[in-house]
Amino acid sequence: MTYLLYGGKIWDNDGSVIQNGAVVIKGDEIVTVDRADKLEQEDYDRTIDCSDKLIIPGLVNAHTHIYSTLSRGLVLPDNPPENFLEILTGLWWKLDRNLTKETIQVSALVAGLEFLKNGVTTVFDHHSSPGATPGSLEIIRDGLVDELGVRSSLCYEVSDRNGKDETDLGIRENLDWLSHVSNSENHMVGGQFGLHASFTLSTNTLEEIASYVEDLDTGVHIHLAEGLEDQQNSLSEYGTRVVNRLDSFGLLRPDSMLVHGIHLAETEKNILAKRAPFIVYNPRSNMNNAVGVADLPGMFRRGIDVGLGNDGMGFDMITEFQAGYFLQKIFQGRPDSIGLPLFGNTLFQNNYELAEETFGVKLGKIVPGYKADIAILDYQAPTPLTQDNVLGHLVYGFSGNNHPVASVFVAGKPVVEDYEVVGVNENEVYKRAQNLARSLWESVKSS
Ligand SMILES: [Zn+2]
Repeated sequence: MTYLLYGGKIWDNDGSVIQNGAVVIKGDEIVTVDRADKLEQEDYDRTIDCSDKLIIPGLVNAHTHIYSTLSRGLVLPDNPPENFLEILTGLWWKLDRNLTKETIQVSALVAGLEFLKNGVTTVFDHHSSPGATPGSLEIIRDGLVDELGVRSSLCYEVSDRNGKDETDLGIRENLDWLSHVSNSENHMVGGQFGLHASFTLSTNTLEEIASYVEDLDTGVHIHLAEGLEDQQNSLSEYGTRVVNRLDSFGLLRPDSMLVHGIHLAETEKNILAKRAPFIVYNPRSNMNNAVGVADLPGMFRRGIDVGLGNDGMGFDMITEFQAGYFLQKIFQGRPDSIGLPLFGNTLFQNNYELAEETFGVKLGKIVPGYKADIAILDYQAPTPLTQDNVLGHLVYGFSGNNHPVASVFVAGKPVVEDYEVVGVNENEVYKRAQNLARSLWESVKSS
């Protein structure tokens, strides 16, 4: 199929905003980007009018938990958490334990629908369902990739918190998934070796995983120093800080993803700079859990690559981007603590580089030769919109759901058209989610 996206502004994320531009998609790639008046309109299978729209590369979410979808609105009144560990034990570790194949499946569909409707075309999921581990990543892939067309990197979070048998099942689930990914020519799927966090992983388990990671030549996807508990456990149990501990197992690889990185000493940041793993900043989750704020200026100063995730909270990455930018300002106590162009590298450079390395294709620019992962947003700019200020328009003009996403393409296929996800009955998915959420909540509350 060939598509012509005609009219509207194109931000190519490669140094230009084209006013009244046009994009030609052929197969799964972008083949031409030019001014609309330079292209004939007839020679394509379909022409899509993009007047009054802003065309941008599809967005990437570098860390999420699709399994948390059915927690929305769940309140555990008898157990209000007083700290991060109580949030884990009182809510998340009860929720993930009670997940079933059906709730995993519907969570993937709801999350996928909401990602696409927010222009998010690629996600890095971190999954946990200790009562239903085997095959859980395949279930997510069925919904997210096969049914909805979201480019997805998956992993299972191995943890010793549920005993040896479940540790082994988690390791097996990662190995099965990574073997599936490496035997597949499909650039829609990717994977890392998933681990929960240092404080729920024993020396034996980390040694075992280190050998798999080396054999498979793959990075890990792990929470790092999200709460103080991670550091306290590492210091009291192993006599070393958490970055040093993970480093001693060779897990801080350039293809590893370390999520949060809040409670870090300067010496640990220096180690990260040397090993060059990818750090994922999740500002809204960090605020909600009251765990602290990652030192982004300190990381940028050291040349550490930092990307942006949502940690399962909300699905709108532009709002996440706005929150992350503002949070750094208040944290540093200065409005100029981190410039917008520098902060923009999280979502609009580093996330794309992570995705390119993971999926083995060119992503993140509206440029010929790149995969046609594209979001077309409703946006009539009330002021000039140029390459110099496009990030300002995103931060100050889009957030708060006033930027409905009209159409989305992934790998050249339309997955959202006229504000609706293609090929899916959204009402039925939400109805099924409602029913399954009720019984899931009952199980969580009685566990
Ligand atoms: Zn997380």
